[in-house]
Amino acid sequence: MNVLEVKNLQKTFGSIRAVEDISFSVEAGEVFTIIGPNGAGKTTTLEMIEGLVTPDQGEIHFGEMNWGNHAVAIKMQIGVQPQSSAMFDLLTPEENLDLFATFYEKARPTEEILELINLTEHRKNQVKKLSGGQRQRLAIGLAMISDPDIIFLDEPTTGLDPQARRHIWDIILELKKLGKTTILTTHYMEEAEKLSDRVCIVDQGNIVTIDTPSALIEKLTKEREVRLSFLDGEEAANEADVFANNLDSVSRTELEGTTLKLWTIKPEDTLLDLFKFTKEREYQVEQVSIREMSLEDVFIAFTGKEWRD
Ligand code: ATP
Repeated sequence: MNVLEVKNLQKTFGSIRAVEDISFSVEAGEVFTIIGPNGAGKTTTLEMIEGLVTPDQGEIHFGEMNWGNHAVAIKMQIGVQPQSSAMFDLLTPEENLDLFATFYEKARPTEEILELINLTEHRKNQVKKLSGGQRQRLAIGLAMISDPDIIFLDEPTTGLDPQARRHIWDIILELKKLGKTTILTTHYMEEAEKLSDRVCIVDQGNIVTIDTPSALIEKLTKEREVRLSFLDGEEAANEADVFANNLDSVSRTELEGTTLKLWTIKPEDTLLDLFKFTKEREYQVEQVSIREMSLEDVFIAFTGKEWRD
């Protein structure tokens, strides 16, 4: 069941086309991730859906509801992670949650939220004394206070260290277990790959592609990158390079010192041939790896551009 549908969203700021043409739908209970480089239009898209920015064109439907006719009902159904500046720095997490709870008719108990965002231990510390990751967790908690069905998180892990980022991931996965729908933006590919049911890749205000992370990676060429490092120095790598280039399964190779990189659609066959060769020559292979394709490769394949975090 679709809980959200957006059609042909457009937004221009002066001469900047922030969002050119964005359409997608989100199903109940999924983690739907909008990913794209800086300035791709993620925040603008999210803010139009959240009712904070008025689109120049396009439609936004929450089931049968839209912002024009059902603003109050939509606000009850959605939770928006507030900017850090919206929190009260001199109050504690507990006090912030209690305060936000008074804005709503029905609120989830503060203790439950503190538990969910793993801040029970810090509930009585002033917000200004919390770490960046703890503040972000509180922001998610504040989005949860009205117990909404749909939660919007705009780059909740940007600027956090890997461990703090993982804590946020745990909360998002917990929200999924609770049956919530999460719409997330990020520019971390690894995050999108780990958390999302579906990923919507945007670039320059347009959708590049939408699908499950695994289907997107599947759609890529079946080619894999294989690396072999030789203990016997560059000469061995050079010879292996000449040998690999003559194999039908290998499309291209690259030499980096004592490491041979090659691209093949049949990694097993290629490796068998290469090991026969190294055995004959009595060369010792130090390391072998087959690189898995990632969402980064999907972005590069679709846009022709390098991905930069
Ligand atoms: P980031 O990852 O950097 O947050 P984003 O994908 O969220 O980027 P947006 O913030 O939606 O991208 O911005 C898209 C484009 O629109 C950018 O070029 C941005 O500078 C511009 N833009 C966004 N909001 C405004 C505004 N209020 N006034 C003028 N330009 C804006």
